[in-house]
Amino acid sequence: MLSLGQDEIAKYPFLADAGQYLRDKGFSLEQFGSDPDLKQLIIKAYERIEVAANGQIYKSDLSEDQVLKQSALPREVFSFLLAIVLLKLSNAHTLIKRFALAEARRAEKYLERDLGNISDESKKQLAVKVINDLFSIQVEKIEDNFVIPISDYIKHSINFHEREWKLINRHVENGLVFLSSHETVRLIRKELGSYINLKINNSKTPSMIPGFEEYVEKLVSLSKKFSSVIVTTGEYPPCIKHAIEVLEKGENLPHSGRFMLATYLLSKGQTVEQIVPLFKNAPDYNERVTTYQLNHLAGTSGSSTKYSCPSCEKLRTQSLCFATSECENIISPLQFGKRRIS
Ligand code: SF4
Repeated sequence: MLSLGQDEIAKYPFLADAGQYLRDKGFSLEQFGSDPDLKQLIIKAYERIEVAANGQIYKSDLSEDQVLKQSALPREVFSFLLAIVLLKLSNAHTLIKRFALAEARRAEKYLERDLGNISDESKKQLAVKVINDLFSIQVEKIEDNFVIPISDYIKHSINFHEREWKLINRHVENGLVFLSSHETVRLIRKELGSYINLKINNSKTPSMIPGFEEYVEKLVSLSKKFSSVIVTTGEYPPCIKHAIEVLEKGENLPHSGRFMLATYLLSKGQTVEQIVPLFKNAPDYNERVTTYQLNHLAGTSGSSTKYSCPSCEKLRTQSLCFATSECENIISPLQFGKRRIS
C-alpha cells in the first residue's frame, strides 16, 4: 500500500482507503446526511459527478498542487468519497464510467506534473511508484526522458492507432522506449479510468442514508440523459456496427473509430444533429465539443474540407475492421450492401 501525504490524498483520492479515511477523521456517512454543514459536501460531491457527466474535469481547490488551506483537504477527499456513495446508491453505471474517466484525467494531470517535477524528487518517485504499483510499468528517468521496457510499451499502447504511437516511430534504445512525461501518463489513461471504475464497482453499496435521497434521485434522472437507446439497422457494415456497440456499452471508442463512424454516417447523408446522440454514451461525451467536431468533419465549420470515410485497408491497420463474408471485394465501408443489390 502506498503511503500518501495529504497533498497526495487530495490529488489521488482513489488511492486512499475510503472507509479508513472516514473512520480516521471520526465521521460516519449518516452525519453527512444530517449535519447542515457537512451536507454541503454532498452537494459538492453531486457537482463533482455532474461535471464528469458533462465530459469535463472537476476543478480542485488545490493551489499549485498543494493543500494550502486546511479546509481544502477534507473537501477534496470527502467530495470524492461521497460521490462514490451517491453513484453506488443511484446504481447509474453510465455515470460511474464517466466519473471514473474524468477522475482519471484529473489524476493524469497531477501525475504528469509530479513525474516531470525536477525540484522535488519525492514527487517524481511517488508518480513512478503509482505507475509501477497500479499498472506494473517500470518507469525510469534518463536525462530529460522517461523510459519503459518495450514489452510494457507494446502492452499498453496496443489500442493506440495514431501513427506516433507505433513502435517503429519511437526512439528505442537497449530494449527501452523513450517517452515524455506526458506520453508516459497518457499511456495509462485507459487503465487508470478502468482502475477507478473497478474500485467503485467493487465498493460496497450502502443502504439509503437519510439526507442523501434528493441527490440520488437527481443522479438517477441525470443518468437518463445519457442512456439514449441506439437503434442499429441491418444495413451497417460490421466495423460500423462494432463502433456503435462500443458506444452503446458506454465504452471508449478510440479517436480513429469515432472518425470512421462520423465520416461514414455523414457520407450516408445523416446530419450532424442526427449523429450527435450516438456519442451520448461515450464516457467523455460533451455535446458542444461533439457538435463542433462533427461540423468540422462535415466541412460546415471553419475550413470547407469534408472528410471522407477511411478505406477498409486503412481501417484494418487501425484494428477497426471486423470483416465478414459480406465484406468480400469491397474497399470502403461505403460500398457495403451495394454489391448484393446490383
Ligand atoms: S471489410 Fe471494410 S466494411 Fe467490412 S468490416 Fe472491414 S472495414 Fe468494415
